[in-house]
Amino acid sequence: MITIALSKGRIFEETLPLLNAAGITALEDPESSRKLILPTNRADVRLIIVRASDVPTYVQYGAADIGVAGKDVLNEHGGIGLYQPLDLNIARCRMMVAVRDDFDYESAVRQGARLRVATKYVQTARDHFAAKGVHVDLIKLYGSMELAPLVGLSDAIVDLVSSGGTLKANHLKAVEHIADISSRLVVNQAALKLKHAAIRPMLDAFAKACRPG
Ligand code: ATP
Ligand code: MG
Repeated sequence: MITIALSKGRIFEETLPLLNAAGITALEDPESSRKLILPTNRADVRLIIVRASDVPTYVQYGAADIGVAGKDVLNEHGGIGLYQPLDLNIARCRMMVAVRDDFDYESAVRQGARLRVATKYVQTARDHFAAKGVHVDLIKLYGSMELAPLVGLSDAIVDLVSSGGTLKANHLKAVEHIADISSRLVVNQAALKLKHAAIRPMLDAFAKACRPG
């Protein structure tokens, strides 16, 4: 049995065509089904539906053989035990620093001010500001980071931005680009060896079907 871990929403939607290209069709839609284990047209392949940030953990421990996870999530997780053979170039966005549109970020940084930064991506934020030599107090949040600067919880946020529409609607501006983000295929290293005959053709089919960067 090959178990593939996916999260609902954009990753599931954008992974479906790649699965189809590998001859794998989901028999149920996770958005309407309450099931967490979804059968496919192939008796030896099943999908499991987990939180986006939990995908690397399921694959690391071998509870899933393969998964699809954003680079944002992989940076936070650290990637231990994971083979990352392929950038699928789906769910593309950017990791950015953003502040209120009336906040003078440049001069705060120039003056060596200690910045309060709210984010779900604590590891990414820590690495980014340490590399710049900017002192920060990190505040861990689990969602809706855009709210934090508006109510005085933080000076800045580190978050994913695609169109910038959410920032604009909340009177925020992006001031620094940290990284380009897309979703990667992750494979359990032991499974790759033990189930090579089943996994290798899938990886090849995904590689052929995905959009080049
Ligand atoms: P949850 O909603 O369960 O708390 P989440 O917010 O991390 O988790 P999604 O919003 O579905 O889940 O994001 C899943 C992945 O999609 C992220 O890890 C990231 O790689 C990517 N992603 C997030 N936001 C965007 C975006 N605005 N545009 C493109 N890709 C994005
Ligand atoms: Mg979300």
